[in-house]
Amino acid sequence: KIPFNVELIRQDFPILKRKINGYPLIYFDNAATSQTPKQVIDTIVDYYSNYNANIHRGVHTLSQEATDKYEGARKKIQQHFNAANPYEIIFTSGTTHGINLVANGFASELKKGDEVLISALEHHSNIVPWQMLCEKTGAILKVIPMNENGELIFAEYEKLLSGKTKMVFVNHVSNALGTVNPIKKIIDKAHEAGAVVLVDGAQAAPHIKADVQALDVDFYLVSAHKMCGPTGVGVLYGKEKWLKKLPPYQGGGEMIATVTFEKTTYADLPHKFEAGTPNICGGIAFGAALDYMNEVGFHEIAEYEHQLLEYATKQLLAIEGVKIYGVSKEKTAVISFNIEGIHPYDIGTIIDKLGVAVRTGHHCAQPIMDFYKIPGTVRASFSFYNTMEEIDLFIEAVKRAKAMLE
Ligand code: PMP
Repeated sequence: KIPFNVELIRQDFPILKRKINGYPLIYFDNAATSQTPKQVIDTIVDYYSNYNANIHRGVHTLSQEATDKYEGARKKIQQHFNAANPYEIIFTSGTTHGINLVANGFASELKKGDEVLISALEHHSNIVPWQMLCEKTGAILKVIPMNENGELIFAEYEKLLSGKTKMVFVNHVSNALGTVNPIKKIIDKAHEAGAVVLVDGAQAAPHIKADVQALDVDFYLVSAHKMCGPTGVGVLYGKEKWLKKLPPYQGGGEMIATVTFEKTTYADLPHKFEAGTPNICGGIAFGAALDYMNEVGFHEIAEYEHQLLEYATKQLLAIEGVKIYGVSKEKTAVISFNIEGIHPYDIGTIIDKLGVAVRTGHHCAQPIMDFYKIPGTVRASFSFYNTMEEIDLFIEAVKRAKAMLE
């Protein structure tokens, strides 16, 4: 294992050499999408240059090579998340797709008056599909509340759980605030009440290596593009018993055992949920991204990102009028903030002129913004290829924006 060296790591990311408006790119929008190392880019080029073919049904060499690599990636992902079986890993187009797949499947499991719980910290993609499911089934959606620090109130969660609770949906890490939720405790309590738990791991996966068996989670979802992989691919982990029980989400090729005009029987897992030609290259590149991140080391990543978070938090708070939203002790390297009297969009626009990429707005989590009674925030989210010097430049940029806008 090579020791953690941010300067060497940065050389793996071609985009970090870019200039924006004449300034070196400072990319602090990692929670939206992470950047891609050359090892992953090379995997994509290699796929299209050397073995691009459709998988699973070809007898020819290219098809077999592509199938082997795609199924190899599934195994890598299985090992990474410590799933018991490779067929419990379903390739999706991303977290949103995976959540909709599960929501669709549970339509037949819920009846009128059943209750499902979501948390106040969810991304819209872990709210809207469940609202749609409740409309369809007559189930009732209840919300686990949060406190000023941006943490879920566990005692309130315990009060909401009852024999009526059928499902609990919660993210592992909040994208808007960075709060790390105590998901093991949440899962255990839900199971005691007999409820199924789905954890949206989209924001956790780039920072924390989740062990789905140790967590005993029923469903866990991630998107590759947040963890050094390409867009348009992700995975749904599901416990075998649930994946066997749920009906398929989409019909088509690849997901069948036999088709006649009278009746179709479905393929075994994982193919039952993978209708049509999948994102073959994306799946293989996701495997390469996991290899890369594991090579850097999740322990090292977490430790270094924590230093970035602490440093940036201190520097930002030294600027008059700055308020940070989400101040849990358990948090990933995300800072959501505002400056008194200034609209977040204006700060984002001005610091972009200085090369700094941050996200502004509600971050697809409007209920959190409503809780704080704000239209949105500026969100700086760090990754292991960011540096302390970049934070200094970001702080200078924020100060300049503030001076211009006051
Ligand atoms: N959940 C969370 C917590 C997220 O941050 C995101 C992406 N912003 C999603 C779900 C949706 O992921 P995707 O857009 O890749 O489907």
